[in-house]
Amino acid sequence: MIDFSNTEIAFKVKSNGELKNARFLFSMIKHPWLVKFLGGLSNFALKIHFPIGWIIKPTLYRHFVGGETIEECVPTAEKLFKYKVYSLLDYSVEAAKNEKAMGDTAAEIRRGIDFAAKHDYVPYTVFKPSALANTEVLEKVSKREPLNDEEKATFDKFIQRVDVLCAAAEQSGKPIMFDAEDYCIQQAIDDVTEQMMAKYNTKDKANVFNTLQMYRHDRLYYLKHLIEISKRDGYVIGCKYVRGAYMEKERERAAKGGYPSPIYPDKQGTDNAYNEALRLSVENIDHIHIFNGTHNEESIKCLIDLIEKHKLDKKDKRIFFSQLYGMSDNLSFNTAEAGYNVVKYLPYGKIRNVLPYLIRRAEENTAIAGQTTRELSLIKEEVKRRKAAKK
Ligand SMILES: Cc1cc2nc3c(=O)[nH]c(=O)nc-3n(C[C@H](O)[C@H](O)[C@H](O)COP(=O)(O)OP(=O)(O)OC[C@H]3O[C@@H](n4cnc5c(N)ncnc54)[C@H](O)[C@@H]3O)c2cc1C
Repeated sequence: MIDFSNTEIAFKVKSNGELKNARFLFSMIKHPWLVKFLGGLSNFALKIHFPIGWIIKPTLYRHFVGGETIEECVPTAEKLFKYKVYSLLDYSVEAAKNEKAMGDTAAEIRRGIDFAAKHDYVPYTVFKPSALANTEVLEKVSKREPLNDEEKATFDKFIQRVDVLCAAAEQSGKPIMFDAEDYCIQQAIDDVTEQMMAKYNTKDKANVFNTLQMYRHDRLYYLKHLIEISKRDGYVIGCKYVRGAYMEKERERAAKGGYPSPIYPDKQGTDNAYNEALRLSVENIDHIHIFNGTHNEESIKCLIDLIEKHKLDKKDKRIFFSQLYGMSDNLSFNTAEAGYNVVKYLPYGKIRNVLPYLIRRAEENTAIAGQTTRELSLIKEEVKRRKAAKK
């Protein structure tokens, strides 16, 4: 059994300075009022173009982000790999504003694919579909509403862009993942991802992965449907599992829109569905390749138990565990040390672009009961352990 409380392994990668920065950060973000205030302030500063880099860069940015460019992420990725943890370079941009921005983002994702092709420590690439498409059009497609000619052309362009990226990923030998986003656009993303999986996945390699947000109560049915497709059409499905990041927004939107919330009514429902998805996937490992994106210790243990039960190799390339850079290092490094495949999502981008991601991380750490307290107490323990070891 892995000891997830081993702080020496968990923080090997962090210098004393980085550890102290982490302690400072987590002691700040445990206060919800402060995170709310800073979130509001940052959004305002962004709107009026007030420079806030001087405060964000040495603190939040340094802890949660790899750098502004792929090249700036290299020292961090190499350091992680020294401790057996892979990196997934995640170009952080929010929903696209215009065609030029979408083209630029597609070009940057393409650079990420080329970089992954040449570096063993990058096993996947990833992108956010809304950064490559007009979200209003995605919403219409999701609702099965008819598109006018202009909208149809926009949607076709999205498919073309994604197709070029998936083809490049297949060529590179490193799979590409579609992140999951808001419920109102996800149907269109599912449609396109399925199209790409049919085109690029083979009978034993998932070159394209979709993301399933297991807080949605329809996702187990969807997973079963994907397994059926795999059995029928003879190619494997790539599945990244996450619980889902937009719960409050989805519930509010459903209440306003007058439709039933797509989210389980309680956390237990989400947790059960998550672990059931892992079980179904391992039982169908010849049809599903698994990416376990979670900071939940039970879901990591659950997958480890399933790997053992089904006598799979710890290093089976069809199964990866993943956490976000700057979070749950005790899970990542201890799991990697025990011999499993672990990859950190390593976001990169200019402060301006990464700021919404950083605010989400701070809010998430505040919102998830116990998460910050746990991070903080592990960090404090390691600071204490290092001090004692020096004596
Ligand atoms: C590597 C990685 C990649 C990710 N990619 C994506 C992505 O593409 N799309 C995306 O949406 N998110 C993504 N996330 C975020 C993820 O969806 C979760 O928000 C986050 O990881 C917290 O969930 P958890 O499993 O780590 O842990 P936990 O702390 O156990 O779970 C918290 C989560 O449980 C769910 N939950 C909490 N309370 C309730 C409730 N009352 N009722 C129902 N459900 C509840 C919510 O989803 C909440 O985020 C990613 C996370 C990781 C680690």
